[in-house]
Amino acid sequence: MNPSRLCLLLLALASAVRADPPAILIDPGHGGAAVAGSLDQRSNSSPNNATSPGGLKEKDLTLEFSLILKEEILAEADRQGRVLGVLLTRESDVNPNFIERAKICDRPDTACVVSIHFNAGGGGKASGSLALIAAKERNPDYAIDRAFAAGLSAACSKAVREYLPGSKDRGVIHDSHLHGGRGSNFFFQLQRCEHLKGKPKCFLEVEFIDNPAVEKALLDGDRAAKFRTVAASIAAYLVAATEEPAKRRPKD
Ligand SMILES: [Zn+2]
Repeated sequence: MNPSRLCLLLLALASAVRADPPAILIDPGHGGAAVAGSLDQRSNSSPNNATSPGGLKEKDLTLEFSLILKEEILAEADRQGRVLGVLLTRESDVNPNFIERAKICDRPDTACVVSIHFNAGGGGKASGSLALIAAKERNPDYAIDRAFAAGLSAACSKAVREYLPGSKDRGVIHDSHLHGGRGSNFFFQLQRCEHLKGKPKCFLEVEFIDNPAVEKALLDGDRAAKFRTVAASIAAYLVAATEEPAKRRPKD
């Protein structure tokens, strides 16, 4: 290699090291009042799924939780002397479709994508935290997603148990039950993104909010303080799981 080419290469490497800090992408699930996108395009996001017995809507709780999670990630990074970015796919009661949400996530500096949800099902008796990933047969990043999602579910469950001792870590499930086996439309859109190959992606279902016991323990009273405890545990995991840009520098 001639000296001028070597010089250019070194400059390129130096700018790679100085690249923007890694960004954690948080997607507050649902939002707004109407379905966004279309099933044909595999972009449809429903405005709301779960509702608590007292009428709290998942779409509002995902946003409340995500805004607190953003603060906790930044605080945890600051405590560790780390610089991290946190971006949300929405910061108000709107419902971007999955193409729009994926576009926000598709950044060269994205470290991971976590879509925040609250669950329902089991006739109001189910409880526990879980993470959802794209099934193995259509997920080239299956091993990465699975390891990441297991840690995330465990971090969430551990903190939820401070308020709800019987809550279980349900671990990682696959998305094969969705859309007749085709899986989550959000994963479908994320997998088409140029910059997200090899980056962990999952849904986190914090708890089953249709269960009256969960509502009483986790949503009633000072909900912001309870969410902050759970978010802090998740933030500690996410900051630890997000590598420094220098570690991603290719060896030459
Ligand atoms: Zn949901």
